[in-house]
Order: sequence, then C-alpha cells, then structure tokens
Amino acid sequence: MQDTKEEMIVERIEKLKEKKNAIILAHNFSKPEIRAVADVVGGSSGLTTEANEADCDMILVCGVDFMAEIAAVLNPDKKVITPGRGAACPLAKQLSKEELLEAKKEHPDSEVLLYLNSLAKTISLADCVCTANNALKIAGTMGDNSPILFGPDLGVSYYISKGTAKDLISIPDYAVCPVHNKITVDKLTEVKTAHPQATIVAHPECCPDVQDMAEYISSTGEIVKFCKESEIKEFIVAADVELSRMLQDEAPGKTFYPVSESLVCEYMRISTLANVADALETEKSEVVVQREIADAARIPIERMLEFS
Ligand code: SF4
Repeated sequence: MQDTKEEMIVERIEKLKEKKNAIILAHNFSKPEIRAVADVVGGSSGLTTEANEADCDMILVCGVDFMAEIAAVLNPDKKVITPGRGAACPLAKQLSKEELLEAKKEHPDSEVLLYLNSLAKTISLADCVCTANNALKIAGTMGDNSPILFGPDLGVSYYISKGTAKDLISIPDYAVCPVHNKITVDKLTEVKTAHPQATIVAHPECCPDVQDMAEYISSTGEIVKFCKESEIKEFIVAADVELSRMLQDEAPGKTFYPVSESLVCEYMRISTLANVADALETEKSEVVVQREIADAARIPIERMLEFS
C-alpha cells in the first residue's frame, strides 16, 4: 500500500517520463516500488535487448554500473541516466582491462568470452559477451580450435564448462559474486531439509557445489519463467531474496523459500523513488562511455544480441 508521499513521487515520475519521452529499465533485484514504476523489468539479458530496441529520447537504468554503461554503449544518440550513483557491481570490478590484456598476451590464439557483468572498457577487448541466459548457447559456438578466456565469474565459468564440456581459462581465477557466493551447501541443505518437497532453482553465479545441488539453473528471467510455467508448487530459490519475493507476488498460488532473508545485493537496491524522480528532473547523473571504448564494446554486445 503506497502512502501519500510515495504516491506523489510516483506521479512526479510518470509526468517526467512523459515529458522527457523516457523509459525506465529495472533489474529483477531492484526494490518492488522501483519495479512498479519501470517500463521494463528483467535480468541483464532482457534489459540489454530492451536497451537495444528502446524507442525514446532518454533511458533511466535502475541497476548497477555495468548495466547503465551497456545501455549507453547501445544508445549513443540517447541520454542514459542512472539514479544509482555508487552502484558499482563488485564482480564487474574484479576483471580489469590490464588483466585481460595480459591474459590475451599469454594466450594469443584464444577467443575472449566475457560475462556481461563487466565494465565497458573490459568488454571493448572481448570477442563476445554473454549473460546467464545465453551463456551455454554462445560458448557452445566458440573455442573449437582455440582456448576460451572467460571472466570474471567462477560460478558462471563452472556452469558453462559443465553445460558445454568446453575448457575455459578463467580470468581472474578468484572472481565471484559476493552475494550469490554467500549461499553455502550447508545453508541450502538446511532449507531443503525443512522443505524436502521443494525444487531447488539456482542462479549460475552460485558456487559449483550449490549448482550441483540445484534441479534447475538459469538466469533470473528464465528462473521466473520456469517457476511460473512449471506444475511444481514449491521452490527453494538460491539467489538474491528479491527474486523469491517477486516470484511470490507474481505466482501467489505457489510457495517460494529464499535460502536466506539476508541475501541481498545492496548495489541493486541503491535506486529509490526519490532519486529516480530527481535523476529524471535534473538529468545530472548521465552515464557517459568514452566514444572509442563504446564503439569497440558495441561489437561483442551486438554479437551476443544476434544470438538472442
Ligand atoms: S548480484 Fe552480484 S553480480 Fe549481480 S550486481 Fe550484485 S554483486 Fe554484482
């Protein structure tokens, strides 16, 4: 239930969206009130596709830094803003352009596939990018005659290796999502013991042991689709708690158990209704990617979109 103050901010946002011909893209892990004012809610894959097809003058991204950069790279003629200044995904920061250059020197005959959770300057050096949604499909077409350099997430690297039987060289060899990596086998076993009839669904950013326990692994968007369309009535959701909450709202006839209420990506939750309204009003928080970096990063991103 919205209070009057919240209703007034929502009204202000709607008016500003219309006036500025703006759309709002929000990640599935955003706060519910942000998802409610968004024109598109989805995982990285869905949001990238929408950003590529956006018919508007301004795009406001409620998510983390790499998502806003991708929208800017795909829309050099539009203004891209983000209310979430400081929402820097710690996973994306773990692979620098310099480290990737070094790895490419060490493996000159390699192909470079990066998880989309990377910064534009790093993506600018890749052959292709992928999300949890399309990782298996894309990796399956690469590396037949050369090694695949993959970064920066070890969980996704394991997911691809297991799903495609391709050997990946992980760069760096330690990077994980600090949120999904908190899910342990012990904790998951505890929840499964309490709800033995529930099916475990997991995000590929979870660690390998947790993935091995899961009955379904995919992107947030595909997890939503699977849980809604399946005949199964109870699920344990090994991902950010917001995904369980969203699923519970959207599929009230089913039950979703989070692995832990404290599994929250704070970076995805930086956007608030007030700072969305302010960002639309002032347009101060514009996301700018240097022209040469954007031109180079667009190539691997568009290559991924061709697979979608
Ligand atoms: S959930 Fe993990 S990978 Fe996603 S934005 Fe948060 S820290 Fe980054």
